[in-house]
Amino acid sequence: MVIDDKTFSESVERVLHADFACDFESAGPRELYNAVSKAVMVQSFDAWNAGRKSGKKRCAYFSAEFLMGRSIFANLLNLGCLGAAKRALAAVGRDLNDFEEVEDAALGNGGLGRLAACYLESAATMGIPLDGYGIRYRYGLFRQTFVDGYQHEEGDDWLKWGDPWSVRADRDAVIVEFADQKVKAVPYDMPIFGYHNDVVNNLRLWSSEPINEFDFNAFNEMKGDRTALENFNATKICDVLYPNDNTMVGKILRLRQQYFLVSASLQDILRKYKAQGKKLKDLDKSYCFQLNDTHPVIAIPELLRLLQKEGMGFEEAFAVCAKTFNFTNHTIMAEALEKWDALALSDLLPDVYDQIVACQHRLESEGLDKEKYFIIRDNVIHMANLAIYVSSKVNGVAEIHTNILKTDVFKDWYELYPKKFVNVTNGITPRRWMLLNNPEMAALIDSRIGEGWHTDLMQLRGLKQYIPEILPDFKRIKGENKQKLVAYIAEHEGVDIPPEFAFDVQVKRLHEYKRQMLNALSILYFYYGIKEGKIKDFPPTAFIFGAKAAPGYYNAKAIIKFINEISKLVNSDPEVNGVMRVVFVQNYNVSYAEKIVCAADISEQISMAGMEASGTGNMKFMLGGTVTLGTLDGANVEICEEAGRENNCIFGATVEEVAGIKQFYCPREFIEQDEELKRAVNTLIDGTFPDEEGMLKKLYDSLVDGHEPDRYLVCFDFRSYIRAKEGLLRSYGTDEFYEKCLLNMCAAGKFSADRSVSDYARLIWKIK
Ligand SMILES: *Cc1c(COP(=O)(O)O)cnc(C)c1O
Repeated sequence: MVIDDKTFSESVERVLHADFACDFESAGPRELYNAVSKAVMVQSFDAWNAGRKSGKKRCAYFSAEFLMGRSIFANLLNLGCLGAAKRALAAVGRDLNDFEEVEDAALGNGGLGRLAACYLESAATMGIPLDGYGIRYRYGLFRQTFVDGYQHEEGDDWLKWGDPWSVRADRDAVIVEFADQKVKAVPYDMPIFGYHNDVVNNLRLWSSEPINEFDFNAFNEMKGDRTALENFNATKICDVLYPNDNTMVGKILRLRQQYFLVSASLQDILRKYKAQGKKLKDLDKSYCFQLNDTHPVIAIPELLRLLQKEGMGFEEAFAVCAKTFNFTNHTIMAEALEKWDALALSDLLPDVYDQIVACQHRLESEGLDKEKYFIIRDNVIHMANLAIYVSSKVNGVAEIHTNILKTDVFKDWYELYPKKFVNVTNGITPRRWMLLNNPEMAALIDSRIGEGWHTDLMQLRGLKQYIPEILPDFKRIKGENKQKLVAYIAEHEGVDIPPEFAFDVQVKRLHEYKRQMLNALSILYFYYGIKEGKIKDFPPTAFIFGAKAAPGYYNAKAIIKFINEISKLVNSDPEVNGVMRVVFVQNYNVSYAEKIVCAADISEQISMAGMEASGTGNMKFMLGGTVTLGTLDGANVEICEEAGRENNCIFGATVEEVAGIKQFYCPREFIEQDEELKRAVNTLIDGTFPDEEGMLKKLYDSLVDGHEPDRYLVCFDFRSYIRAKEGLLRSYGTDEFYEKCLLNMCAAGKFSADRSVSDYARLIWKIK
């Protein structure tokens, strides 16, 4: 689908007339945004409809999170009308860039939700029939600001500018039933455009509503009654995304959300499937279901229930489920593996609970070791075990992570079902993470190797031979990206960063295992080293952070406060601010990431080995041409395999070493024996920073006291990190440094989500 400039202008104008009774001159930015978006929707209807009607086997990707970011620019890019849109608006004195004010659709927390979004785009681009199914949260991930260095959270009103990229499909509404509540699930469909290929897949997000007016009356009559209010307020189910990343919160509302999503999706899919006159026992020939982590795993007992309601026996229904479901594990952290209290679940969803019990009985009947193989134990339901037992394939998200699943976390299950376990290393879409956010760099690449790499990222290898000749342009473009980021940060954070500094970046969710603390302590080490004259000619560096902390995660919030205090100390000290700046940007999200990734020189990926399942931020930076400063964790391992370990900067304990270290680890000893580490750590308690709330003191305690002090080996890895980091920073600006950046860019091919979804299609979904 190519829209020429004239057609484009005319369609936009028609929508302005019809929907807003205004024209190009009188339209406000919001009206113009909606009109441009709707004009594109009108033009793409035929392709969208064709996708829905093709009889091919489809995969339904069930995910509690889709971190889509901003749609307008990415959609225009994929449809090949970014240029037409720019010109059309410019011709009438308007500017497409005004839409930078449009809120991100942040219906996800971090990596897991962003992965789902990248996969939808890549599948459409690869022509793979993949549709997303999720929840249309009224409020997405909270908006973050800092007040006096502390994180504050505000509601994220992502619909402020409207939602022109969704279409409400009332005709497909279904009823979802809980023991105490019946609600209507109404789908909103969002087209997912493939890149320049006329393929349009679908993202269906469900919204919960009261079934009818009668409910409202009943609700009104009982408004004094708190429980009645809970029961009848259907919209509450989709009110807000839980802001927890990599942690499980045992809240019933969360279980309601999960069941709401999968029950609505499965009813919808089965209804359409039956309408085609096909037999339910052959469901796997038309559909498969990918469970993105344990959040949607309750789909398994729900499908068992629905199939039996249609007259199937349990064993037959089980066989269908075993052929259609697949499960992706995203974390090995115990606090993130979902477990539900059996009583609570059976109270809310008695019939679904019965199906889980039936699965447990079936498992027991196989005569296996009960200590190793269980779904329900001590009245706790283990959702990952249920998923593994019933699924056709189980995958980890990077080689090292899948190996840990096989040898440690799910060792027993792997021994029972070795063929179930496969690896699919995560990926990112090069459209958003290069063509869109770094167009000048993309044009530079095009000028040497053509455009094939846009949809076949392995072709970047062909750029290697041009490195010497494109190096000056690479430097210039990176420099311009840095200028733009500097201006943005000055405006939004009020911090000045000299663009000629090295940009050392750590952006990702705030989590102790990701070790923003290690980065913070290294900055204090450099700071005092410079002040005391021990570190000479420090290479000028801007340390850039971005991260949201879960509102209930105390230590994560304390680390934000700590880094904000460090930032104040460093930036205001004339003895060091000539060579060091620190900034923690507020409200890190997809749109901020797009600006940061293309401007970074060094990508900090410093999790304790074994903890980061894959990471995808690391891949975005690699594609943007940065050197990774990291541990041998997650996809960092494969980044080194692809780009050469010598072209990145690796430090720290390995997975194999971690367990041994932990046996005898005493962080206090490390701190006592290392004056400079001690100096940095003691700033948490020695009055260097104000700490009225005792937050920093608690951080200090977590490093030295308690059951498992310094759980993530910050003090252990400190020296090896400092050595690696100082060496890398000192090499910044040399041709050798930029060559490493470019070698990483040329080697990023493996980390295209196009490759990931093709792996899924071939190894797991058996489609195309
Ligand atoms: C890519 C991305 C992430 C994931 O980053 P990791 O470093 O892999 O944890 C999180 N948040 C946003 C906004 C992203 O774009």
